[in-house]
Amino acid sequence: MEFETVIGLEVHAQLLTNSKIFCGCSTKFGAAPNTHTCPVCLGMPGVLPVLNRTVVEYTIRLALATHCSIARTSRFARKNYFYPDLPKGYQISQYDLPVAEHGWIDIEVNGESKRIGITRIHLEEDAGKLIHDETQPFTYVDFNRTGVPLIEIVSEPDLRTPEEASTYLKKLRDIVRYLDICDGNMEEGSLRCDANISLRPVGSESFGVKTELKNMNSFRFVQRALEYEIKRQRAILEQGGTIVQETRLWDSDKGVTHGMRGKEEAHDYRYFPDPDLVPVLVTDEWIENVRSELPELPEAKKARFIKEYELPEQDGVVLTSSKDLAAYFEACVARFPQPKKVSNWIMAELLRELNRDDGEIDQCPVSPEALADLLKMTDEDVISGKIAKSVFEEMYATGKPPETIVEEKGLKQVTDEGEIGKVIESVLTAHPDQVEEYRAGKDKLLGFFVGQVMKQTQGKANPKIVNEILREKLRE
Ligand code: ADP
Ligand code: MG
Ligand code: ZN
Repeated sequence: MEFETVIGLEVHAQLLTNSKIFCGCSTKFGAAPNTHTCPVCLGMPGVLPVLNRTVVEYTIRLALATHCSIARTSRFARKNYFYPDLPKGYQISQYDLPVAEHGWIDIEVNGESKRIGITRIHLEEDAGKLIHDETQPFTYVDFNRTGVPLIEIVSEPDLRTPEEASTYLKKLRDIVRYLDICDGNMEEGSLRCDANISLRPVGSESFGVKTELKNMNSFRFVQRALEYEIKRQRAILEQGGTIVQETRLWDSDKGVTHGMRGKEEAHDYRYFPDPDLVPVLVTDEWIENVRSELPELPEAKKARFIKEYELPEQDGVVLTSSKDLAAYFEACVARFPQPKKVSNWIMAELLRELNRDDGEIDQCPVSPEALADLLKMTDEDVISGKIAKSVFEEMYATGKPPETIVEEKGLKQVTDEGEIGKVIESVLTAHPDQVEEYRAGKDKLLGFFVGQVMKQTQGKANPKIVNEILREKLRE
C-alpha cells in the first residue's frame, strides 16, 4: 500500500525583548544561574504578573508578516502541570483566545510554491532549565529562563515531506530574524520545533494517528527525525499494526526516535483564564502603527533584488538569505555600482571565507566599503582580477584596506608598455623554438607566452597590454 505523509509543526520562538514577559528581569542568555529572577518569575505566592507591551507588539509583527488575523481581544490562560522547572505549578499561556489566527507562509520546494497554513500564534512564558550533573545524586534548577517570552506558531497539517517541513522552518526563521523579534538560534534554543507526523493511505480523506517529535534543535535533526519516523510508522502500518499516539524524542547519536510519554490531551491541563491578568486589547491604530514600521521581508527583498539589480534568481535567494547579508550587498553596490560583479564576489569569495570560519556577516573583517574599493581597483586596472583574490584573502585575514595591501606588497598592475615590452623580448629570446612554431601556425602557443610573461611579472602585467604587444612582436 502507498502511504502519504502528513506533518504539522509547532514552533516556539524566544522573543528578543530585554525583559521577561510578566516582570522586569533580564532575558539575557548565559548569565550565572538564578541571577535573573524575582518573586514574580519565581512564582512566589501573592505576586502579580504585568504584561510586557513589547511582547505583544512583536507578536503583531509576526502576525502581519504571516497574513494572520489579529484578535482585538485575547487573553491568557493557565496550563496546569507539575514540573520542577515550573515554580508556579502552571504555565501562563493562551488557549481559547490567542493573539493571532488563520495565516499562511508560502514555501518553495523543487521550484514550486506551496502555501502552508498557520493555525494560530499565541504567547506564553518559558519554563526554567534543569541541569543534570551526572557526578551528583541530584539535579540543579536554573530559573533564569522562567518567564522569558515565547511565541508558539502552530502550522496546519499541510506539510507532506520532511523537506517541506525543514523548508517551512527555515522560512519561518528567516521571517522572525528579518522582523528582529527572535535571533533564530536553534542551538541555543531560541527557536525550537516539535513535529507532528502521521501517515495515511494515498487517497484517504481522514488523517492517521500522529506522533509528536519533541525538541529538535537543528534543521538537519528535524529532517532526519521525520525520515526515521516515516519508516517506523510505515513498517507498523504495513504489518497491520496501529500507531500509538504519543510524544517521542529524537536521539541524534543513535539516529532513532523513542517513546517518551503518552500524548496528553488539552483537558489534562485544566486550562482556565488566568484571573491575575486582564484581557489583551489590541486597537486598529496599534496594528497600523506596527504595519507602517514593518521592514521589507525576505520575499519582497528577493523580488526587488532580482528586478532592481538585474540579478539571477539564485543570486537573489542567496543575497537575501539574511537581512545583514542583503544590507552588506546594498552597501557595497552603493559604492561600486556593478551589482552582478558585487554579487559574484560575495557569493564566491566572501561566503567561502565566512563559511569556513562559521562566521556571520556582521562580524566580517572586510567591510562592504573595503570590498567595493577592491572591486574599483580591478575595474580601473590597478590590479588584476587574479591578484584581487589574493588581496581579498589578505583583507579578510588582517582587516587591512585593499590600498594598503596593494601598496605594501607592490601588487599594482604594470601597464607601462615599455616595461612589458622588455619582458616580452626576453621571453621570446629565451624560447626561439616556440616562436618558430607559433609563426608556423601553432596559435595555441600564445597562451604559453602570456603565461611566461605573467610568471616573470608575478602576475602583475596588464593582460590586455601583454596580449597586444605579444601579437605585434610575434608578427614581426
Ligand atoms: P494537539 O492538541 O494534540 O497538540 P493539535 O490539533 O493542536 O494537536 O495539532 C498540533 C499540531 O499537529 C499542529 O501543527 C497540526 O497541524 C498537527 N497535526 C494535527 N493532526 C495531525 C495529524 N493527524 N498528522 C500530522 N500532524 C497533525
Ligand atoms: Mg500541541
Ligand atoms: Zn522576574
